[in-house]
Amino acid sequence: MTRTHVSLQQNFAGIVLTQGDPGYDDAREIFNAMIDRRPAVIAQCRTVEDVKAALAYGQREGLDIAVRSGGHSVAGASVIDGGLVVDLRLMNEVSVDTDARTATVAGGATWADVDRACQPHGLATVGGRVSSTGVAGLTLGGGSGWFERKFGLASDALISVDLVTADGREVTASAEENPDLFWALHGGGGNFGVATRFVFALQPLPVTAFALLLWLPETARTLLRTYRDMVDRGLPLDLGGGMAYLTGPPLPFVPDELQGRRLIGMIATYAGSEAEMRSAIAPLLALNPVASMIAELPYTEIQSALDDPPGFRNYWSAQHLAALSDEAIDVFIAQGEAMLVPSPSQHLILPWGGAVADHAENWPQPHRSAAWVVHPFGLWEDPADDDYVISWARNAVAGLQPYSTGAVYLNFIGNEGEDRIVSGFGRDNYDRLTRVKAEYDPANVFRLNHNIKPWTP
Ligand SMILES: Cc1cc2nc3c(=O)[nH]c(=O)nc-3n(C[C@H](O)[C@H](O)[C@H](O)COP(=O)(O)OP(=O)(O)OC[C@H]3O[C@@H](n4cnc5c(N)ncnc54)[C@H](O)[C@@H]3O)c2cc1C
Repeated sequence: MTRTHVSLQQNFAGIVLTQGDPGYDDAREIFNAMIDRRPAVIAQCRTVEDVKAALAYGQREGLDIAVRSGGHSVAGASVIDGGLVVDLRLMNEVSVDTDARTATVAGGATWADVDRACQPHGLATVGGRVSSTGVAGLTLGGGSGWFERKFGLASDALISVDLVTADGREVTASAEENPDLFWALHGGGGNFGVATRFVFALQPLPVTAFALLLWLPETARTLLRTYRDMVDRGLPLDLGGGMAYLTGPPLPFVPDELQGRRLIGMIATYAGSEAEMRSAIAPLLALNPVASMIAELPYTEIQSALDDPPGFRNYWSAQHLAALSDEAIDVFIAQGEAMLVPSPSQHLILPWGGAVADHAENWPQPHRSAAWVVHPFGLWEDPADDDYVISWARNAVAGLQPYSTGAVYLNFIGNEGEDRIVSGFGRDNYDRLTRVKAEYDPANVFRLNHNIKPWTP
């Protein structure tokens, strides 16, 4: 360890790691196995004081600074070659106030930490669809989850966020305190500081159901048109999830001959009983899935039902659709037929609307009013498939461009350039975000993200 690293270690309650230290290699690993970077220093913070010390150290030493919680950035924004990683994972406490129906969540918690703490009280908040994702990165980017059509995006449940800014200030953002910053944190990502504490409103969610229904690809056109018509007529807000091309999973209810094959499936959740769910999806059940599982499951199990082990290579993209025409369905089907199978990849289509679209104008992401989100996400093992899968995801998005709203949800994409970032907010909101950025991070210390440039006069 060099002398400068020792200076950070003094009075640091957490752990400072540099190359060669035990734990360094584990600590630099993130979900996307394509990312293999070697930071100069990983500062595993245990306290807010540690976060301040790490930020001061990084700037003093002229290091690029990455901020890491769940490590699920597909582009690898939370780890940097030769720079400093401010790693929040040791700060993962969650406490629940059942009277106030709130959860107080430390900045490095995952959704598994939150769900486990809330479940015994029959309370929940919308998180992501995979429990190992970090609360911080997902929420600050907006936060799309199973029950979003009923309760809104994860960030809609925010009551307050505590941040440490680049110059070491502790700032609270809420509807009352620093409201412009609070607005920016509903989608503006990690651009404004290191979030050390979130307070979320909780909802009662005592009974939840989950379904995985599978069909052969030959059914796709009828299936997607039926689903589209159901959405157009008005889907119950209790019904979450969508349809996806996927590889037949090795699950007991899936016949052997379907495992490992290209299938199209409905992955759905219901804020209610199995019977209510069956009634909500009756027109799809009538299309005779070749395998199906519908059951009441605890929220924690639903939230982790799709958890893939880390270690796969990842490339993701997304496109918002204003409507789902027959032509757009045919394009989606052609793309689903081109997906790499067998692999954990999915070509997903989700209806938005409901509480996602409610009050969209109040927040930085106007695209929340999109009717549909298409999300090709490639996960694969063999580097020899890199070019194929990356081109597949890019082509999937490009092919749907004629039906697109022109906007995109940034949590669902990697690094696709500045125009895509602006389209995640729209020009007016982007400009407003640049002013908030100039107030809280004028030197753009937090630039390893979907970067919002500080406004300059
Ligand atoms: C398997 C998987 C499933 C996913 N599912 C969903 C989903 O269902 N819905 C959805 O909306 N998105 C989903 N995502 C995308 C995910 O929300 C984003 O990639 C998000 O940024 C990940 O957050 P993280 O804390 O895990 O990531 P990290 O890689 O740790 O961080 C990503 C970025 O978030 C910022 N950040 C992290 N922690 C902090 C902090 N404490 N303070 C300030 N900024 C911080 C930084 O800018 C950092 O670069 C998924 C991603 C993966 C890989």
